[in-house]
Amino acid sequence: LAPAHIRAIAPYPPGKPITALAREMGIPVERIVKLASNENPLGMSRLARAAVEREVAGLARYPDQFELIQGIAERHGIDAERVILGNGSNDLLDYVARVFLGPGLSSVFSQYAFAVYPLATQGVGAESLVVPARDYGHDLDAMRAAIRPDTRVVWIANPNNPTGTFLPAGAVHAFLQAVPRDVIVVLDEAYDEYLPPALRGDANDTRGWLDAFPNLIITRTFSKVYGLAGLRVGYALGAAEVIDLLNRLRQPFNVNNLALAAARAALDDHLFLAESFELNLRGIEQIVAGLKRIGLGHIPAHGNFVTFHVKDAASVNQRLLKQGMIVRPLGNYAMPEHLRVTVGLESENARFLTALEKSL
Ligand code: PMP
Repeated sequence: LAPAHIRAIAPYPPGKPITALAREMGIPVERIVKLASNENPLGMSRLARAAVEREVAGLARYPDQFELIQGIAERHGIDAERVILGNGSNDLLDYVARVFLGPGLSSVFSQYAFAVYPLATQGVGAESLVVPARDYGHDLDAMRAAIRPDTRVVWIANPNNPTGTFLPAGAVHAFLQAVPRDVIVVLDEAYDEYLPPALRGDANDTRGWLDAFPNLIITRTFSKVYGLAGLRVGYALGAAEVIDLLNRLRQPFNVNNLALAAARAALDDHLFLAESFELNLRGIEQIVAGLKRIGLGHIPAHGNFVTFHVKDAASVNQRLLKQGMIVRPLGNYAMPEHLRVTVGLESENARFLTALEKSL
């Protein structure tokens, strides 16, 4: 019954649920290690947990976004009217597609870019223009050249998931200067907080970038370093006019009370953020060293995950599952010789490396 453009969409395959694997393999739930969805292995921010417990008493009321929007605006040094909240940052990607795309229009993104860009594009009947990757990352020159008169959105994930590739601020800045101002550029920074400050460069100047490029939308999430993936909350920053357009499609109460309270508290949980950052840095080193010892290559990693090369990844993945180890196969990205593993606790990373070696 659905129109052809909906039937043509390949569904998003989420990481295998722990309970499903436990049942299938007859392994106790607590023995399963899930390093498949780029979640924070430390759990949620401690301040956020306390805020959720306090907020439970207020659940009879509809949510009020004021405090969180204010906190985010202050964090980035911009006016509150340039901030919009989403039910996860995926929600915001959907608003962008619904506002700026439609039948007869197109969006540009890189091969191996985050899987939600084609979903959002095709969901509104627009065309996906997929640009071949360079070293698994975005080829910005080719993406610029791919923009057509009917292109309204370019999606860039920096760092990118699932490849972990990273574009220096200078390259993104030059791209923004080259792109026509009637094309929205979405800079998806879901993993930004994991970048060492030295790598981020002048992209730290969010305010300056947004002032210079009114067609720029930056998206961020509380799902990664803040440890709130299950609460579903993300945000976008942009020109007031652009945020106003996105707000017209936003359901009034799109982020729930618990998520709002948790995210507001997590924003200020500097200790937890620093701890998460450090754990991730050490975890990447541990996993990369382990892969090297086993003799497997990897794509240089800039998020909270490592994407590595392994022949016949689907079979290796099956053998990992049998050992209770959930990582992410990348068949839906047409990467049949790679697997993506999320950084876990030190003990989980070690278990992963042992299981991987046994699976080869
Ligand atoms: N962008 C990228 C690049 C991601 O990897 C993810 C999470 N998988 C998201 C956006 C969406 O995250 P969320 O909806 O949980 O905010």
